[in-house]
Amino acid sequence: MKIIMLGAPGAGKGTQAKKIADRLQIPHISTGDIFRANIKNGTELGKEAKSYMDAGNLVPDSVTLRLVMDRIAKEDCQNGYVFDGFPRTIPQAEALEEALRAIGQKIDFAVDIEVPDENIVHRMGGRRACLACGATYHTVYAAPKKEGVCDRCGAALMLREDDRPETVKKRLDVYHEQTQPLIDFYQDRGCLKRADGTKGVEEVFLQILELIGV
Ligand code: ADP
Ligand code: AMP
Repeated sequence: MKIIMLGAPGAGKGTQAKKIADRLQIPHISTGDIFRANIKNGTELGKEAKSYMDAGNLVPDSVTLRLVMDRIAKEDCQNGYVFDGFPRTIPQAEALEEALRAIGQKIDFAVDIEVPDENIVHRMGGRRACLACGATYHTVYAAPKKEGVCDRCGAALMLREDDRPETVKKRLDVYHEQTQPLIDFYQDRGCLKRADGTKGVEEVFLQILELIGV
């Protein structure tokens, strides 16, 4: 099954994508995680992406698309995948559609996690990320067992550079302008599903499983 997670930054795409990937035994592909890993490892891609990310802007489509096309060509993607944070622009969605069409495939579901902007700022301020293994926590809603330490791998948790309040505002603007139009795009393709993202993590997960018929 090929699934796209849509929703504002902080809506819970990563949280739910990991759970879906686990349940369906398919890879979770987060372009944000891939960029962050590249920044951490000091690669050319990381250097190129960092300035855009820190400013709350999108990385150029050409860079993002190259990365995604390489990723979905890998063996482990044969039975599907969950995209988290991709596509984020209409040109990205069109390029993905075209690439899949060329091999006789298409996206099965685009799941939009709906959360009003008012809730987002609070969610992102409390988000703590493990840059070592990609796990995500929240100081209130999904706290680690030991403050500041990743439950899974023991590394120190970080407040993401782009989760600072001034950048969150910019990212929300970018979302409304460039990513929200994808909701209509996938509605037109007949594969859009809407989940109420204001509920708790488990409740949102159950909604999504029902929406995708699992
Ligand atoms: P996204 O991938 O859409 O940017 P995340 O999955 O990283 O969002 O979630 C953003 C923050 O909100 C994280 O700190 C996460 O732990 C928390 N969170 C995710 N889902 C919920 C939820 N349903 N209720 C409350 N907090 C949540
Ligand atoms: P995320 O982890 O999904 O919140 O993404 C963090 C940042 O990475 C975004 O604010 C963008 O700067 C960049 N990014 C992630 N995915 C994409 C994408 N599909 N297109 C462009 N930029 C992206």
